[in-house]
Amino acid sequence: NETARWLSPGDSSQIASALSVRFVQVFGHEPEGVFFAPGRANLNGEHIDFHGGRCLPMALPHGTYVAAAPRQDGILRLRTLDEELDTGIVEIPASAAVSAHPHDDAPSGPAETSELPDWTRYVSGVLWTLGQLDEEHAELRLSPEFGADLLIRSTLPIGAGLSSSASLECAAALAFVALGTERGAENPQGELDGALSDAERAVIAAACVRAETEVVGAGTGGLDQTTSMRASEGKLLSLDCRDFSLRRVDISFLLRSYRFIAVDTGQPHRLVGGEFSARRAESEAAAALLGVERLRDTVPDACRRVDVDEVLEEFDRLAEGQEEINGYSTAACRRRLRHAVTEMMRSEKIHKLLTGEAHGVDHTAETIGDVMSAGHTSMRENAQVSFEMADQVVDTALREGALGARLIGGGFGGSVLTLVPKDRAAGMTKALAALSPKVRFLEVLPSAPARVV
Ligand code: ADP
Ligand code: MG
Repeated sequence: NETARWLSPGDSSQIASALSVRFVQVFGHEPEGVFFAPGRANLNGEHIDFHGGRCLPMALPHGTYVAAAPRQDGILRLRTLDEELDTGIVEIPASAAVSAHPHDDAPSGPAETSELPDWTRYVSGVLWTLGQLDEEHAELRLSPEFGADLLIRSTLPIGAGLSSSASLECAAALAFVALGTERGAENPQGELDGALSDAERAVIAAACVRAETEVVGAGTGGLDQTTSMRASEGKLLSLDCRDFSLRRVDISFLLRSYRFIAVDTGQPHRLVGGEFSARRAESEAAAALLGVERLRDTVPDACRRVDVDEVLEEFDRLAEGQEEINGYSTAACRRRLRHAVTEMMRSEKIHKLLTGEAHGVDHTAETIGDVMSAGHTSMRENAQVSFEMADQVVDTALREGALGARLIGGGFGGSVLTLVPKDRAAGMTKALAALSPKVRFLEVLPSAPARVV
């Protein structure tokens, strides 16, 4: 029963037409369009986007579909078809949607919407941040009167470290831009995604980041949304999170002999929970002690070698005699520092390998594999965000012939990315499936970004 373990991305146009039919049943009128945005897998660069580090993501063929129609009354009516989250249509009143029920310490004032399901914030948050765009981006700005009906369906496991949250935000954002902005009106329906420039996609991604940090209250740093909005089919992104500039690197040569397979451990995480935020705060305390704004500033531009021990020695000198830094344990801050610096160096190594000339396929695949496994060790020992099932999946995958395997996403649950020679894949997945009935597989084929279906 191996095939049942594979999560298929399905056929986009079939999913879109089925969703449109369902939309009519749910809302009683036709949708104006169906919009899709992908999830992602990250080869390297976890917990460093918010420190300006380099990340190496690819968009998945799996993601979130949103069927949508505009409304004239400013109301947002949402329904998700996810079995665990679906409670029928959730109606968010116009005023509440505009102020987007921000989390506690947001400045824009609360709305009495605490009884709304948490997931709706990812959508109403985007409606709010797109309404807040400045004059420079007026063409992408939503009017305060804008409302919509949205029906949502995901082909991703939710809370599995594959970025279902950003894919929901980006699919909703694309729907809003298509149906409620000048830019959308100029390019009705299917023309819009081709017409959006990379710079406009970056603006939309930034609005989605704001929604997740300010409205949902999850401290993500932009990796997920940038990938979902700006990825390229067949390409790995080398994304510099200092300014979100990126290079798109063709990895088709690699995929002729190897496969990237994501393994959902079946243990979902809770990013909004305090642990992820604590990890981030500890790494920020380390940066503060070192006198840098973000830890990328300790790793200079790509080419120079950095000795992590030098950075740690500097940290030890400054931390001498202190048990805590800004209220966080010095030992914990030191581990987060070690994770961030080594993780950034791993990304630089792969960046150089993939963008330089000096690589043969085998050498490249093996180096990538080694970097992935070293990344997992750091997730376990330095970031301390791994868990037993992820460690078991990594060990089993490596034993069964994978060149590399690592936990991806925020941790405390989620998925492991593996790189495996094609002829070892079946043996590997069989052994992994035997670990737990909850284990699921996704084929990671670098895919196109958010689009109109
Ligand atoms: P990840 O992004 O790794 O999947 P997160 O914890 O960041 O995990 O985001 C998961 C949350 O995103 C869910 O708990 C839910 O609130 C929201 N979400 C994602 N996909 C959907 C969906 N299809 N329908 C409703 N909510 C969703
Ligand atoms: Mg997420």
